[in-house]
Amino acid sequence: MTELADRRLLLVHAHPDDESINNGATMATYAAQGAHVALVTCTLGEEGEVIPPALAHLAATHEDTLGAHRAEELAAAMKELGVADHRFLGGPGHFRDSGMMGAEQNHRAGAFWSADVDEAAALLVEVIRELRPQVLITYDPDGGYGHPDHIQAHRVAMRAAVLAAEPAFRPDLGAAHDIAKIYWNRVPRSVGERLFAELTENAVHGLPWAAAQLADVPGVVDDDRITTVVDGRPQVARKAAAMRAHATQIAVEAPWFALSNDLAQPLFDTEYYELVRGRSGAAPGEREHDLFAGLPTEGAGAHPDPPQDDRGTVTRT
Ligand SMILES: [Zn+2]
Repeated sequence: MTELADRRLLLVHAHPDDESINNGATMATYAAQGAHVALVTCTLGEEGEVIPPALAHLAATHEDTLGAHRAEELAAAMKELGVADHRFLGGPGHFRDSGMMGAEQNHRAGAFWSADVDEAAALLVEVIRELRPQVLITYDPDGGYGHPDHIQAHRVAMRAAVLAAEPAFRPDLGAAHDIAKIYWNRVPRSVGERLFAELTENAVHGLPWAAAQLADVPGVVDDDRITTVVDGRPQVARKAAAMRAHATQIAVEAPWFALSNDLAQPLFDTEYYELVRGRSGAAPGEREHDLFAGLPTEGAGAHPDPPQDDRGTVTRT
């Protein structure tokens, strides 16, 4: 990359499909606005259960070729969202899906859960220093719902944000960069309760699945912890298409979807965040409606690009 876009958003996720479920509308929204949207996925999701019977042979318990297939699903999903920059942490297959908490796969060599956090973070530091995002999105410390790869993605992302800003850390990985704002994926409890009430009525009216419970949804918190709301309604068709592209993992009957547990849950057209580092750009007591609110990048192009040398490296002053 020789020239940086004015607004740069980095997302760190555990498996292919997490990005589309959690942030598909946000990613499509910012990509459509010309922001640089970059996704780092930490594993290929090799341990996922496969929904379509015709593809069941790919599963880890059979041919164990699901990872390569899910990389293709991810590429198709990113095309739907308009996101060109998607990478796997350390390269495809560098870290393997650890399976659910307590599974013996947790401790297999190469499993993301058993990776050294600082070593994995260094791989992300290199990406952060290259892309220089102002905004990072990842999971909360519980990974939203306790999956080991989600917990580890949180740890690695938060650690990498610290290390990337530290000039003395691995100068060979690029010039230090401080990410201005970090967000965790969230769902406000009142919204979840409302949508699950609607879902329960719909389930009665012919959805092919029973209804999940709000407790099945990752990242649900009391409303007062929500700092930021991204209205993704204009992009919701692209989000649904991206989710459909993850066909081994997700079945979509918009505005609902189901994972391999065959339990329906709402497909969120508005996505919610908790700002955990950096200053809110909203008035006191208000929520932000833009992840970049309050940053000098607001109103893209209003600020000159940082000076660059002839190799395109950003010079920090
Ligand atoms: Zn996941």
